[in-house]
Amino acid sequence: MAEESVPLTISQGQKNYKTSLNNERESSQFFCNKCSKVQESMIDHKVGTWTLICCGIWCILTFIGGLIPFCCKPCKDVVQYCPECNQKVGEAPFTPC
Ligand SMILES: [Zn+2]
Repeated sequence: MAEESVPLTISQGQKNYKTSLNNERESSQFFCNKCSKVQESMIDHKVGTWTLICCGIWCILTFIGGLIPFCCKPCKDVVQYCPECNQKVGEAPFTPC
């Protein structure tokens, strides 16, 4: 489904920083193309398709458990942003195991 994207890495000092944070679920350092510097990403959780599907499954199974995926961060998509320019730098969609 998702196309394979190879994150570029930029050398700064001795460390390599990614320019995109796709499939990263935790806040991490990256090199922002727009700000031309290393930033610590901001993360945001949003309700994705699978969150809704999960919700439906929980509803069927437990009747009252349908709200669990909405309260549960691992069941949501993660979006990574640059804290300075608010550019979206990556996305990690939630998929059930
Ligand atoms: Zn930036």
